[in-house]
Amino acid sequence: MDRDPVCGMDVDERKSQHSAHSLGENYWFCSKDCKTKFESNPQKYSAALEKRASINRKVVVVGAGQVGTTICFALMMSGIASTIVLVDRNSDLSDGHVMDLNHGLSFVQPARIFAGNYSDCKGADIVVVTAGAAQKQGETRLDLVRKNTDIFKDIIPNIAAHNPGTLLTNPVDILTYVALKVSNYPMNRVIGSGTTLDTARFKFLLSRHCRVDPHNVHAYIIGEHGDSEVPVWSQANIAGLPLKEDCPACERSCSAKERDEIFGQVKNAAYEIIDRKGYTNFAIALAVVRIVTSILRDENSVLTVSSLINNYYNISDVCLSIPTIINMNGISKHINIDLDEEESRKLQASAEALKGIIGQLKI
Ligand code: NAD
Repeated sequence: MDRDPVCGMDVDERKSQHSAHSLGENYWFCSKDCKTKFESNPQKYSAALEKRASINRKVVVVGAGQVGTTICFALMMSGIASTIVLVDRNSDLSDGHVMDLNHGLSFVQPARIFAGNYSDCKGADIVVVTAGAAQKQGETRLDLVRKNTDIFKDIIPNIAAHNPGTLLTNPVDILTYVALKVSNYPMNRVIGSGTTLDTARFKFLLSRHCRVDPHNVHAYIIGEHGDSEVPVWSQANIAGLPLKEDCPACERSCSAKERDEIFGQVKNAAYEIIDRKGYTNFAIALAVVRIVTSILRDENSVLTVSSLINNYYNISDVCLSIPTIINMNGISKHINIDLDEEESRKLQASAEALKGIIGQLKI
């Protein structure tokens, strides 16, 4: 279904007998009259359509698995998107989830939720890509990345062909890099959820240790979302007070041993959860919705998303996470935080680990 740019009515593009091509786009009309009006001033009407589209916040989620469906649910609960589309190669699965979600609509803010296909990426503000293969027993990380690279090489051109605003990838870093290369999008419009979740885990564990609200803990996990990620202890603070061995903020000790334990829990969180329930879904979905919100509301929020890095602590041409300002343009700015010598060395090692894998892929 499309919108008549003149009168704003829904038009079924398969049934409409009135269409026009202008400014590189196809338009459909409900009547000959609307088509004639459009042709008298296409710029005026397409600009009005764009304005209406910005009120209609559309998010497409590709992948109706554990993560994709929980993102849809969290989006629906947040009320931030007015249109949510779920796409999966298994259309029964996406249909079933969409029926279930729609049945809850009388309890939340209004939204249009439907199961769709790649053509629904047209006019989307954000397409969240969560489709991917899960690691099988005995499969190496490289095998898995190769498999997911093939999935992305299949999916991303189908999405990019409809020119949605921002691509937000959930398998991250290497797959964010693959999405960037395959889509030919500018770097600001391709974002991985990166270490947004790891940072949230870090803040949660520190908040429990220090007994303060996680919102008031300022601390980042940067680098790869995975084994080589780096906690930035040197900049961690509460109310501007750095976390030291004798912590001036919470007056509890934060020894090297305690720090190692906290970071160990952050790094191993996914393994621990998967051991118990088989997958992770809730916190990652909330992390994705946080990024989506920052884009849709043009918030300029600082989040540790994954994106293409250029000359940051001598790191270039790899996607990894650093504190980044996110707004309606996607990536607005990478923030140059002060890292101590050990942290910068670890960040460079994390970049090298990712580049080592990228070098073995055919992109
Ligand atoms: P899942 O197996 O539950 O779901 C994957 C979905 O993708 C399935 O419904 C499948 O049908 C669909 N799919 C696969 N290939 C497709 C294709 N070519 N086109 C359309 N749909 C396709 O997996 P999940 O638990 O939802 O995880 C999804 C991805 O997110 C995985 O790559 C996983 O590693 C990653 N993940 C990341 C985090 C994080 O912290 N960043 C957390 C959990 C999962």
